[in-house]
Amino acid sequence: MDPLLTLQNICYSYHTPGGETPALENISFTVGEGEFIAIVGPSGCGKSTLLNLICGLVKPESGEILLRGEPVENARAQTGYMLQKDHLFEWRTVYRNILLGLEIQHKCTPENLARADALLETYGLAAFKNSRPSELSGGMRQRAALIRTLVLDPDLLLLDEPFSALDYQTRLSVCDDIGIIIKKEKKTAVLVTHDLSEAISTADRVIVLSKRPGRIKRIVPIQLDMEDRTPFRSRSAPNFKDYFNQIWKELNSYG
Ligand code: ADP
Ligand code: MG
Repeated sequence: MDPLLTLQNICYSYHTPGGETPALENISFTVGEGEFIAIVGPSGCGKSTLLNLICGLVKPESGEILLRGEPVENARAQTGYMLQKDHLFEWRTVYRNILLGLEIQHKCTPENLARADALLETYGLAAFKNSRPSELSGGMRQRAALIRTLVLDPDLLLLDEPFSALDYQTRLSVCDDIGIIIKKEKKTAVLVTHDLSEAISTADRVIVLSKRPGRIKRIVPIQLDMEDRTPFRSRSAPNFKDYFNQIWKELNSYG
């Protein structure tokens, strides 16, 4: 089967009056349907730029990005984007926030509204449908933001450090929560994080980038010795620390 996402020799530089800043160099990888990929790398190495390229917000200088075999700018497959800030609007109820994408895309069909209700129900937010975002905990807000994305039924989910604004404990449980939802909904995901444990605990493969300009240093398939893997349980797998040490060394090596 063709991969859902293919990147071939992607290069990208920012051009400013001060000069040219190469951000990414020769990035190639594929993402299979249903796969969970984590991307780690030092701050400023081009991780957010890479997600912006994948969703077609910016165009690569050279190389090609294909979604289900079509160039991303005219692909029919949809991407959903989740960021560090949840961008929920306080003047809308939780429910109206979740419908925002559907409203913008003129897709408030009975079928889609039913899906919104089902997602709220399944993921424990039905009772907060008419609440304002400020009445939700940080974790519930991220769950609401994810539901807002899922209701559009994207083929590919892009997550840019979605947990980094949360305190450590909340972050562990929200990461578990979101990881479980993404697997349950059978979504393909690319998660950018600077947290190595988060990457190993969620991903099927971890892509390690070098410092700027970001190049792929290594792609590490993660196979933890456990059944019924969830992000939280993954952390206690016997070989978790081996992956941690391996990727840690990779991140801190020169070149
Ligand atoms: P990351 O998400 O890994 O921290 P980014 O993708 O945001 O990194 O940025 C990669 C590099 O590109 C940064 O080091 C920065 O110098 C440069 N950069 C990012 N955005 C811009 C911009 N709008 N204009 C010029 N340079 C930028
Ligand atoms: Mg970033």
